[in-house]
Amino acid sequence: MQKKFEQASAHLSVWLRSNGMRQTQERLMVLEQVCTYDRHFTADQLAADLEGNHLSLGTVYNSLQLFEQCGLIHRLNPAQGSRRSEYEFTFGNDHTMRFLCTRCGREASFRDKAIESILHEKRFSNFSMDNFVLTVYGTCKVCRSGGRGNC
Ligand SMILES: [Zn+2]
Repeated sequence: MQKKFEQASAHLSVWLRSNGMRQTQERLMVLEQVCTYDRHFTADQLAADLEGNHLSLGTVYNSLQLFEQCGLIHRLNPAQGSRRSEYEFTFGNDHTMRFLCTRCGREASFRDKAIESILHEKRFSNFSMDNFVLTVYGTCKVCRSGGRGNC
């Protein structure tokens, strides 16, 4: 977790500087908390976990927006009927592959070694690949079984 935070904060510093912004103690506090999550988290959860640090809700939301812009986190499409966005820490995750349900908008990430190796062995004539993000569109289990999408 410490290494994750160090790399993420270094990335954020460089990004902020190149966009004419300063690294602040508040942003680092939010980032440190974000780095402790293994799975998806919501802004409310983050704010609750940061309670006692005297951070305003605005700071938490602004930081999340910055982290999203600079590629540290990814905002998942909220499930239908839910207005609460979930976030996922994705910085440093290679080979992101996700399922995206076209009915309810739910996303789930997955790894597939076979697809990864095909893409890594592939040589593109006009392009050198560093990384990839693959989205597989379809219907999630809940929608397929006639659920109302509140998975
Ligand atoms: Zn669905």
